[in-house]
Amino acid sequence: MTEAVAQNRLDVAAVRAQFPALHQLVNGRPLVYLDNAATTQKPASVLRALTAYYEQDNANIHRGIHTLAERATRSFEATRLTVRDFLNAPSETEIIFTRGVTESINLVASSWGRSQLQPGDEILISGLEHHSNIVPWQLIASEKGAVIKVIPVLNDGSLDMASYETLLSPRTRMVAFNHASNALGTINPAKALIDLAHRAGALVLVDGAQAASHLKVDVQDLGCDFYCISSHKLYGPTGVGVLFGKRHLLDQMPPYQGGGEMIREVSFNGTTFNDPPYKFEAGTPNIADVVAFKEALDFLKNLSDFNFRSHEQNLLDTFCREVSANKRVRLVGTSADKVSVQSFVIDRVHHFDAGQMLDARGIAVRTGHHCAQPLMDRFELEGTIRASFAVYNTVEEVHELVQGINWITKFVP
Ligand code: PMP
Repeated sequence: MTEAVAQNRLDVAAVRAQFPALHQLVNGRPLVYLDNAATTQKPASVLRALTAYYEQDNANIHRGIHTLAERATRSFEATRLTVRDFLNAPSETEIIFTRGVTESINLVASSWGRSQLQPGDEILISGLEHHSNIVPWQLIASEKGAVIKVIPVLNDGSLDMASYETLLSPRTRMVAFNHASNALGTINPAKALIDLAHRAGALVLVDGAQAASHLKVDVQDLGCDFYCISSHKLYGPTGVGVLFGKRHLLDQMPPYQGGGEMIREVSFNGTTFNDPPYKFEAGTPNIADVVAFKEALDFLKNLSDFNFRSHEQNLLDTFCREVSANKRVRLVGTSADKVSVQSFVIDRVHHFDAGQMLDARGIAVRTGHHCAQPLMDRFELEGTIRASFAVYNTVEEVHELVQGINWITKFVP
C-alpha cells in the first residue's frame, strides 16, 4: 500500500499511469494537458474496452438472439445501470443514451418544447450558458412563439439570484441552466434554482456537462426534471451522452426521432411507440462507446474512495494564488464556489497568441469564447484563456503553467 493510499489521499502518479496520452512530448516538452473542460483524456481501461468490444462482441443490440448479440446487448445495458447509479436515478428507464449534452438538450427542446409550449410561454436560461443550452431553446421558442428570458450574471461570475426570483412567473414553463459553467467554473446553486422554479410551476433542465466529473450528482436529491451529461468530459469516449428525465415526463413526451427500436408496432396506417428509454433511442446506437463509457464511470467510482475533489480544488487554488502575483493577469470568474476551471486574460496579449505561446511549451489550454459568446459580451471580452484541471493534473503542472504565463508577459512587454 502506498503512503497516499494509506492516508486516503489521491495517488496522482498512479492515476496518471492509467492515461497513455499524458505521457508524450509536445513541441519537445512533456505534455501539460489543461484543456479538460473541452474533453478529458481516457484511461487505458476505456481504450481496452473499445478494442475488446470490436474484437469479441461486435453485434447489433436488442434484436439478435445469437450469442454475440446477447453479449453486446448485455454490455450496453450494463452501462445504463451504471449511469443510473452514477446519477442516483430511480430507474434505468429514465436513462436515455444520446450523442452528448448537445443532443440531450435538443431532445428535450424538440420533444417537450414542441408538444408543450404555447405562444407567450417563457423559457428561463442563465447568462452563463454554453451555446448548446441557448440555441435549441431559441429554435423551439421561435417556432412556438415562446419567449426566452435570461438570469443575469454578477461580476464574480455567479448568478443574480434576486433577479432570478423576479423573472420567475406563472408564464415560466422551463428553467435551463448549467450545474457548473464551462467558461468560468462557477458552480450554480442548483437545488435553490430548482426549488424556486418548481414553486413557480416550471420544469428544470440541468446541463451537467462540467459538473459530473467534479461534483457528486444525485438527481433525486436535486429534484431536477432533466439532467444531461457527456461521456467525453467524464474520461469516457466521444459520441455518447445521457439524458436523465423523470419517467412521467418521458411517458408524456413524443418521440424525438423515428426509426428502428423506438417502435412497438408499425403498419402503414400508423405506429405505436416503445416505452422509455427506447422510445427516444431510434436506430443503432453508438454501442462500442456506450460499452466503454462504463469503464470511465467505474474509474470515477474507484476514485471517489479518495478525496479527489480536494486535489482538484488545490490545483485551482494554487494556480489562482500563484498567477495573481503577475499584475498583468486578470482572473475572470472569481465566485466562491467553483469547479477546477479558471478563465483569465493577460493585459496587452491576445488570448490566441497566449495559447500558441503556451503550446510551444507543451501546455494545452483553451482560448476563445468557449461557446459562451453572450457571457463574454457580459464581461466585455472577445475571449479568455482557460485552464481546466482534471484529477490527473499535478501541482508541478500548475507551476509550469504559471511559469509559461510569466514568460509570456516578459516576452511581450
Ligand atoms: N454544456 C457545457 C457547459 C459544456 O461545457 C459543453 C461542452 N463544451 C456542452 C454543454 C456541450 O457538450 P457536448 O459538446 O458534449 O454535447
